[in-house]
Amino acid sequence: MDKTKLLPDYLPPKLPHREKEMKRLEQLFSEFFEGKMGQKVLLVGSVGVGKTALSQSFGREVGKRAVYVYINCRITRSPFLILVETMRKFHPTFPSRGYSTEEVLNALVEHLDKHDQKLLLVLDELDYLVETEGSDFLYLLTRYPEKNPEAWRIGILATCKSRSFLDKLDASTLGTFIHNLIELNRYTADQLFDILVYRAGEAIAPGKVGRETLRFIADMASATGDARFALEILYRAGCLAEQRGSPQIFPEHVREAKASFYPELKKHVLLELRPQEVLTLLAVARRLRSTKSAYVTAKETYETYQVACEEYGWEPLAYTRFWDNLERLRALGFVTTKLVRGKGATTLLSIEEAPVEVLIQELERLAESFGKTVS
Ligand code: ADP
Ligand code: MG
Repeated sequence: MDKTKLLPDYLPPKLPHREKEMKRLEQLFSEFFEGKMGQKVLLVGSVGVGKTALSQSFGREVGKRAVYVYINCRITRSPFLILVETMRKFHPTFPSRGYSTEEVLNALVEHLDKHDQKLLLVLDELDYLVETEGSDFLYLLTRYPEKNPEAWRIGILATCKSRSFLDKLDASTLGTFIHNLIELNRYTADQLFDILVYRAGEAIAPGKVGRETLRFIADMASATGDARFALEILYRAGCLAEQRGSPQIFPEHVREAKASFYPELKKHVLLELRPQEVLTLLAVARRLRSTKSAYVTAKETYETYQVACEEYGWEPLAYTRFWDNLERLRALGFVTTKLVRGKGATTLLSIEEAPVEVLIQELERLAESFGKTVS
């Protein structure tokens, strides 16, 4: 089994059941590629409907018509950082300080103009940016092009989880997006089955998984229409079958896989965390559990962290390094943070993606598996 081909960051050569949407993207961007007209398109759909995969496939097919840059706005969190990251595609050493957002944008457009290039900028999970940064990014999308006509050279393909995102836009941005909106529906059981057959064909040796088993997974995932969930079950079931030395992936492995994880838990990412990151995440989860609250402060979590370190025999890190781990966990999407300004600034932490109880069980198992070594 070639597990890497089932992981979420692997982009398959084709996307069955998204051909229509792919064509629509081509249409919407054709004038941008061929003429002198900017374009902004929004993909809307819930988790696992293929927003990331579709936008990346489209980017892959842009070829020589434009330079393609992919940014995930959950990870790259501000308009400024997005622009710096984009700029680095052209100037790898472009500095991350010393310029304002508008200056970076000017430099970018100037570069495109000078080299007569176009840029297809994919802003995946754009809703995250609006949540954390307010509507500042709108500047890039609407007001700036009015000021600098050469900005037509930047075509934007954004994604977001729900239509309610549109309520947060100003009239003019809304106007652009509403006409260029592609909604990705949740996959039906039959569509999920086709996707699973295709992806299993890439990742798993013939005969190792029966069609009935794939159908079983498709039916399970059809409640949410989420291909990510379907693929994670297949991945998990494959791992279990392998561990047990089974010649095939059977429905029983699928049942066990489903029972053993929560779809948003990103188990395979969890498995790649370093011990100190596991302890840090465990501390956040435990603190949230013991306080029964939606948010906890980083300071109080640090105390819980120190206790967890003692329990599992690790030397606690200094607060600043503990903080670095929180940052990484945030970047990976396990922890969400929110800055509250009162007397001073306080950072509040939370976990949104999975029940903390489920997470704690997983993390405790991991922490035990690291053994009692000193970090
Ligand atoms: P979203 O970004 O909407 O949450 P993703 O693009 O990450 O969803 O898709 C989830 C997973 O399912 C990824 O591993 C992706 O490769 C896969 N996937 C989604 N749609 C398809 C499809 N039509 N064909 C094959 N694989 C797909
Ligand atoms: Mg995505």
